[in-house]
Amino acid sequence: MNVKLFKDLCEATGAPGFEYGIRDLIISEMTPLADEISVDNIGNVTALIKGRSSEKSIMCAAHMDEIGFIVRHIDDNGFIRILPLGGFDAKTLTAQRVMVHGKKDLPGCMGVKPIHVMSPEERTKMPAVTDYVVDLGLPKDEVVKYVSVGDSITRVSDLVEMGDCVNVKSIDNRGGCYMLIEAVRAIIASGNRPDYDLYAVFSVQEEVGLRGAHAATLAIQPTFAFALDVTIAFDTPGSAAHDKCTELGKGTAIKVYDGTLITDPRMVKFMTALAEEGEIPHQLELLAAGGTDAGAMQKFTGGGSICGAISIPVRNVHQSIEMAHKVDIQASVDLLTACFTSLSRWDWSWKQAERTLAPKQGA
Ligand SMILES: [Zn+2]
Repeated sequence: MNVKLFKDLCEATGAPGFEYGIRDLIISEMTPLADEISVDNIGNVTALIKGRSSEKSIMCAAHMDEIGFIVRHIDDNGFIRILPLGGFDAKTLTAQRVMVHGKKDLPGCMGVKPIHVMSPEERTKMPAVTDYVVDLGLPKDEVVKYVSVGDSITRVSDLVEMGDCVNVKSIDNRGGCYMLIEAVRAIIASGNRPDYDLYAVFSVQEEVGLRGAHAATLAIQPTFAFALDVTIAFDTPGSAAHDKCTELGKGTAIKVYDGTLITDPRMVKFMTALAEEGEIPHQLELLAAGGTDAGAMQKFTGGGSICGAISIPVRNVHQSIEMAHKVDIQASVDLLTACFTSLSRWDWSWKQAERTLAPKQGA
C-alpha cells in the first residue's frame, strides 16, 4: 500500500463546499493518468479514462469532502462560534486541534466548559457541536484581520501507523479517493484499459447530502455506477454480532444496503464473484443508517444506473481520528480494479437465481 499517498490525501483539507486543498492534490495525481480532466461548476473533479469500448459508460464517485465546520460568529474576545458541515460525533471534539481557513490558515482548538465548573447535569449531558468555541489564542482585533464569518474549519491530525492499521482524520473519504486513484493507476500501469469509458469523479459536498454526485450524475448519465466510501466497523468490545456492520482486517466491504441505497442485487453477485475469482478478501456491508454517493447515482440517471458500492471498514468513523486496516484498503483497490476491467462480462439477464459471470476473455 502507498502509505505516503494515503497520508497526503487524509491530511489534505477540504470541508464540504471548500474542497480547495484536496482538489489540487487530486488533480495533480490524476492528470498523468487521465485522457481528460475537468472541474465542473459545483467543484467536482472528473477524470475521463477512455475504455476499450464507448458502448456503455462507468461512473465511479469518491467524495473528496471531509466533515468540517463553518465560522458563524466571532465574539468580542475573539472566540469563534461554529456550525457543523456534516454529521459529527460531537463528544469526540473536546480539546481537539483544528485549522481555520481564513486569509491565512490559523491553528485553533475546540474549547468547552472545564469539568470542574460543570453542574452534575452538565457532566452527563452530551455536548452539541454548537456548544464548542474555537480558540485561536488571539484577541478579536487580530482574529478579524484573517478570519471572516463564512470561512471553513477542518480537523487536524497526522497519520500514525498502528500495527497493521492507519490512524488519521478523514479516512472518510480520502480512503475512497485513494481507492479510485490507485485502481486507475493499476489499470494504466498494466497497459490495460477499463472495459468501458470510465468517468472517475471526485465529488464535493457528499457529507451534506450527496450534492456533488447528484450534479455529476445528471451530466454523465452512466450505465454502471460505483460509489467508494468508508463504512462502519463496530467490531470493538461490547458490540453485538448484528451491529458490527463490518470488521477490520476481514477484507473490502461489498455494500448490500444503506440509508440511501438498496444495491442492485445483480451487482452484489457480480462483485462477490469477482472477489472470489481473484481471491480478494471481502465481506458484505449492511449499514443501518447513513448513505453514500451511490444513492444519488442510482436514481439521477434517466432510467436509473446499475449501481454498487465498495467500502473500506473504518473504526471510530466521523470521530476525530479514524482507523482502517491496510489489508482492507488494498483489497478494496483490487476489487475496484477487477470491476472496471470485467464489466464486459456482465450478465444482462434478470434471472437472479441463475446469474453467471461470463468467462474472462482468452480464458
Ligand atoms: Zn463518506
